[in-house]
Amino acid sequence: MKNVDEMGLNTQLVHAGDFEDAFGSAVTPIYQTSTFSFRNAAHGADLFAGREKGFIYSRIGNPTIGALEDKLAVMESGFGAIACSSGMGAVSTVYLALLSKGDHIISSSAVYGPSRNIMENHFVRWGVESSYIDTSDLNLIRESIRPNTKVLYIESPANPTMSITDIKAASELAHQHGIIVVVDNTFSSPILQKPLDLGADVSLHSLTKYINGHADIVGGAVIAKTEEMYKKLRTIMVGFGFNMDPHQAYLVIRGAKTLALRVERAQQNAMKVAEFLEAHPKIAWVKYPGLKSHPQYEMAQQQMKGPGSMISFEMKGGYEAGIELMNNVHLVMLAVSLGGVESLIQHPASMTHAGVSDEGKKAAFITEGLVRVSVGIEDVEDVINDLKHALEQV
Ligand SMILES: *Cc1c(COP(=O)(O)O)cnc(C)c1O
Repeated sequence: MKNVDEMGLNTQLVHAGDFEDAFGSAVTPIYQTSTFSFRNAAHGADLFAGREKGFIYSRIGNPTIGALEDKLAVMESGFGAIACSSGMGAVSTVYLALLSKGDHIISSSAVYGPSRNIMENHFVRWGVESSYIDTSDLNLIRESIRPNTKVLYIESPANPTMSITDIKAASELAHQHGIIVVVDNTFSSPILQKPLDLGADVSLHSLTKYINGHADIVGGAVIAKTEEMYKKLRTIMVGFGFNMDPHQAYLVIRGAKTLALRVERAQQNAMKVAEFLEAHPKIAWVKYPGLKSHPQYEMAQQQMKGPGSMISFEMKGGYEAGIELMNNVHLVMLAVSLGGVESLIQHPASMTHAGVSDEGKKAAFITEGLVRVSVGIEDVEDVINDLKHALEQV
């Protein structure tokens, strides 16, 4: 098997993690098995003791899942990757591995909602403290550091503000205080940003989004920079049972092969959609890192290989206008999630954040007319025409 470690990213996307099987399969087969037989007692003993490489039980490891993990580790330049049942399984693995009673975590205030909810509603029960701040402001990070701060958890870009954190500078600052840096890289994918190369210790993904990219599975992964960190995280995934299923892994491997092509096309489309939206009279503002109007346009250019394909914007007509827009799109699908081949739209105030208090919405930067779009890989003229028609109805 070819070693693709030193080859280009597209080659790695297609081939990294491949292994030879008995039949010369062109793609990694689905090893849909819960357990693996040992040749004899000594073989079983060697596997359990780690003296020999191999598989024991699919919660601990499986060839199909392992192939995906190897691909992800190469893509993100990590020592190793750990596939999980979902993105939240990946987030939970990180929290459980790195935080103990009395510890403190600093997190981006625009972090993915459930990542904050499980911290504030559950980890608090076990005495973990958390602060939510604008991590794009290094001074705020510095001021938030406490003697018991163990983790700096960054999401960049973070929805819906699309604010960008300088991962390199934030990592340097955190490391001066012995703080571990974790980046949720879901919105960028390794095509646009490699957090471990920028100084982070751990990168994580909801594979549900760009990496799988076809809206047909839920999955997650954690990638560790060092062997020590990898072992720490893997023990938690295995122990708590956050493991992926082999069939899930097979689909993510298939999706990941076209990741670069999909990301490039989607962001070309997104740039055009963002320009269209910004020029529209019924829209108050558009947040997209590819637009010069984005407050951190320069930072995005430096840190990311491209602005991605997530856009948020505010309807001048507020809540009602948001609802009307949702009810008049036809091609652009009214659904949560992101990063798939199809364009999706959602109105947080009436959907994902409908049950959240006014204070909670304010903390998450959810305004009444806020709309979020994940631009897909369709012909962009069709996407723009659909939005144009729907905006006319508002
Ligand atoms: C979707 C998402 C998650 C959670 O992933 P699931 O696969 O839905 O569990 C975490 N972080 C970000 C940024 C996400 O978009």
